Amino acid sequence: MSTPTDAQRMEKIVSLCKRRGFIFQSSEIYGGLNGAWDYGPLGVELKRNLKNYWWHVTVHERDDVVGMDGSILTHPAVLQASGHVEGFSDPMVDCRLTGKRFRADQIPTQSGTIFSFQFARDAIPPPESFSALVHIAAPHLQADKSVSLDDAFKIALLVNERTNLGLQTPANDPESVLKFFLDLGHKLSTSSDVSVAELGEEFGTNYASNPIVSGDQFRVLIGDSENEAKARKKAKKLAQEFYRKRGLRFPVVDLLSTQPIENTRDFNPENGAELTQPRPFNLMFKTNVGAMEDESSIAYLRPETAQSIFVQFKNILEVSRKKLPFGIAQIGKAFRNEINPRNFTFRSREFEQMEIEYFCRADQGMELLEYWKEERLRFYENIGIPRSKLHVLTVPDEERAFYSKGTYDIEYEFPFGRQELEGVAYRTDYDLSQHQKASGKSLEYFDEETKQRFVPHVVEPSAGVDRTVLALICEAYSEDQAPDEKGKMETRILLRFHPRIAPVKCGVFPLLKNNSQLVAKAKEIVGLLRPHMTVFYDESGAIGRRYRRQDEIGTPFGVTVDFETLGEKDPGLRDTVTLRDRDSMKQERVAIQNLPAMLRERIG
Ligand code: ATP
Repeated sequence: MSTPTDAQRMEKIVSLCKRRGFIFQSSEIYGGLNGAWDYGPLGVELKRNLKNYWWHVTVHERDDVVGMDGSILTHPAVLQASGHVEGFSDPMVDCRLTGKRFRADQIPTQSGTIFSFQFARDAIPPPESFSALVHIAAPHLQADKSVSLDDAFKIALLVNERTNLGLQTPANDPESVLKFFLDLGHKLSTSSDVSVAELGEEFGTNYASNPIVSGDQFRVLIGDSENEAKARKKAKKLAQEFYRKRGLRFPVVDLLSTQPIENTRDFNPENGAELTQPRPFNLMFKTNVGAMEDESSIAYLRPETAQSIFVQFKNILEVSRKKLPFGIAQIGKAFRNEINPRNFTFRSREFEQMEIEYFCRADQGMELLEYWKEERLRFYENIGIPRSKLHVLTVPDEERAFYSKGTYDIEYEFPFGRQELEGVAYRTDYDLSQHQKASGKSLEYFDEETKQRFVPHVVEPSAGVDRTVLALICEAYSEDQAPDEKGKMETRILLRFHPRIAPVKCGVFPLLKNNSQLVAKAKEIVGLLRPHMTVFYDESGAIGRRYRRQDEIGTPFGVTVDFETLGEKDPGLRDTVTLRDRDSMKQERVAIQNLPAMLRERIG
């Protein structure tokens, strides 16, 4: 569970992302589309740097991996064969009180006392029993069949007044209202006026024997922190709300039992109300291709990029002429109708994956699983996510897909808890065998040395682009103390991105914007650096402010053109600039002509 400080940190990160143009909510001006996000000018650079670096180390720097880019629209037969149509589902539960939907396996375990309610009755009499009361109050009137809550009280109070019963107006709670109507029936039935007594008897009997009831059972969990009286009150209030939603206007609830319980997942963690039984919810987005909207035109938005790799295995094998072991890599969008998108971009309905399907012989599978786990850990370290914040979870046998012989989850310590960044799984020959069987086309590999024909096995490192971008931002976010223009210490917000993935690599600043020589020199430097890296030119405001603006978006280097650059004081310093480091805030004097090579080297 995340601590309050972590929640605060996450809030600051989300707010910075919006303020500086990393990530916006999709369709924000229309109230937002849940589970979808748009990347702004800086976010798109960060994301692109990540994907380019992944592609570079995975495809360009290796002889044994080739790339592909498959379609998002997927033939239903593909996902039928892969098992997604049948089984790509999460267990879903609904809160019986609010209807809010949760993923059952994400409900935290809770302990406390269960309050079980068996049924409830309405303290307001059913409309038909009012005809007797109306008759007493105004014998010439016919009772309406639909008596509103307001009318019910008006009629009852009128009868009370007309017949001088002297009953107290009931308080605004079901028990008082119940008592009021019971007393009303009883007092009327013992009236000395025979006709009133008869009508009173009729009303009283009807009220006692034909109440409006709800027989739905309902359970509430109240945590141990509440004392007993408070817990009861809270449980009762929730139960009343539950029965009110089932049409009872003043529900008098019947508490059947209380029972202590530990580590249950049966209750809504937000309000304690009982959840429904879990039922499977298929996460795939279905659509129709072409003009006909029927069964024959169904297609799916792919829930993972992997399947198009398996389906194109044979084509790619033939054209690339690779020998086992070799891999096919892909970066692309995937779609899952997640039950609860949450934690900012962490769980989205539209996201990107970076996947490698690394094909091998059966006897290489386990070894390659280890190899890829280590490769992937190294990748994260190379983009600035330290090993100490990464955790490798060995997925236990009972939680692994039945065909997998070994799966690791690489997790990162997000501010909202330790969560999966990437899965590395040895999937055996399951996927290719399934597609071979379903399509009737051979997906075998022919080993020229051994003259054997077989379906290759596969190891799959599958990473999320958006989750990694989020981890990069969370890891980079820092606050420290730095002096303002007047030397007073102030809090500095900065993103300590690894220069390799920073959206802007270098800020260029003329010391004064109204000095044409300084401005011209600065623009010259922009022209010099731009072919090599992303550069941001900024001439507005005090220099300290300009540094802060770049710190906040994670620009690792800042170049300032000052009067020394023009050689005004010391001709030896002509054409040199100050180069400022974002993290240490240290400045060094560097010759302009050395800047491109020096910065390129530091960016890595
Ligand atoms: P989870 O258990 O968190 O739902 P998963 O195990 O189903 O994830 P995989 O099917 O292994 O995920 O997908 C591989 C990677 O794709 C994940 O490690 C993650 O980085 C990314 N990913 C999966 N689902 C989402 C999502 N809804 N939003 C963002 N990224 C996702």
